[in-house]
Parts: sequence; structure tokens; C-alpha cells
Amino acid sequence: MNLVLLGPPGAGKGTQAKRLQDLRSLVQLSTGDMLRAAVAAGTELGRQAGELMEQGQLVPDALVIGLIAESMDEGKGGAGFILDGFPRTIGQAEALNTLLQSRGEKVDRVVVIEVDDDALVARITGRFTCATCGEGYHELFKLPKVEGVCDVCGGTKFSRRADDTEEVVRERLKAYHAQTEPLIGYYKAQDKVSAVDGMADIETVQKEIDQALDGA
Ligand code: AMP
Repeated sequence: MNLVLLGPPGAGKGTQAKRLQDLRSLVQLSTGDMLRAAVAAGTELGRQAGELMEQGQLVPDALVIGLIAESMDEGKGGAGFILDGFPRTIGQAEALNTLLQSRGEKVDRVVVIEVDDDALVARITGRFTCATCGEGYHELFKLPKVEGVCDVCGGTKFSRRADDTEEVVRERLKAYHAQTEPLIGYYKAQDKVSAVDGMADIETVQKEIDQALDGA
């Protein structure tokens, strides 16, 4: 099964993708993670993408389509892919169709996680991760049990994404509404969309996603 997770920044796509990856042996493909790795490595692609990411704008379709094509070529995804943060434009969705078709596959389901803009700003600006193992935390909702120490690995260094400031989040939301939201109608026309209420608690969201996938 190939699953697209759609929703605004901070809706919980990454969290849900990681859980589904473990549960259903799917391979998570996150263009945001790939781009951040390219920025950190200082590659040419990272240089092209970095400035746009800092401004909360989308990077050009060709760059992210290339990243997805490469990851699919690596022969991963036996049971299928979870696409997290891709596609974000109609052009990317069409490129995804072509890539999957060449493997004899398709997008099977699109789960849209819906969350209000104001809740997203609070969620995103409070989040931080363990710099060692990547475990996610939040100033309001999930602090480490011992202050300054990661619950999972004991690490004591934490980091925040450069684009998680309120100003940039507002730009990312604008990009979402203008460029990505039209994909909901695009996939609805193909009868592939299940919407879940991302304002609910995390277990409820998980259950709703499981129901959507098992009914697919
Ligand atoms: P994310 O981690 O998915 O929130 O992505 C972080 C940033 O990376 C976005 O604000 C964009 O600048 C860029 N980005 C990630 N995925 C895409 C994509 N599919 N298309 C264009 N830009 C992307």
C-alpha cells in the first residue's frame, strides 16, 4: 500500500508516519527530512533549498521530485511507501503518479490530518527534539521527565528546527493553503481521501488513521 499523508505543517504527519512505518512495514519518505539532511551536509541541493526553507516557502518541484525518485530507486518500499510532506503541489502529485506507475503501483490512500491554523502555531513553536536520537518533545505537551535529559537515550543536547518560529510558520501555512490544499480536491476526485480530526488526542488520531487504512 502506498499512502500519502496530507495536512498542514505541525498536523502530526511525521509522528504518524513513524508509527505506521513500524506497524505496517512501510517505508517513510519525508522530503522535509531529506532536505534538512542536504542542508546539514552542505550539498549543492541543500544550498538551493536552504534559503527557501528558512522563509517558509516551497522549494522547486524538480528538486523534491528528484529526491523522491532517487529514494524509490534505492529499491526500498517492498510493502509500500508512506509519503510524508510530498506531494505538496499538483505538479508533484502528477510526478508521483508517473513514478509509481513505472513500478506498477499507485497511490492507494490519502489521509488528510485536519488542524486549525492557530493550534498549529502553538504546536510548532513549542516543539524541540533530542539532538542525539531525534525523540520529539514539546514545551507545553511533552517535556522530558527529567529536565534537560532525553527520556529515550539520556542525551542532554536538544535542537529546534530553524523554520519553527512563529513568523516562518505563518508563511508555511500560507504556502500550505495556496499550493497544497488543492491536492485534497485532486485526490477526492479519485475517491482516495480519508479525513481525520487532527485536533483530537494522539491515540484517537491513530485509531482514525488505522480505520481509514483498514477500510481502504
Ligand atoms: P516539512 O519538514 O515537511 O515541514 O518541510 C520543511 C520545508 O521543506 C518546507 O517548508 C519546504 O520549504 C520544504 N519542503 C519539504 N517538502 C517539500 C515539498 N514536497 N515541496 C516543496 N518544498 C518542500
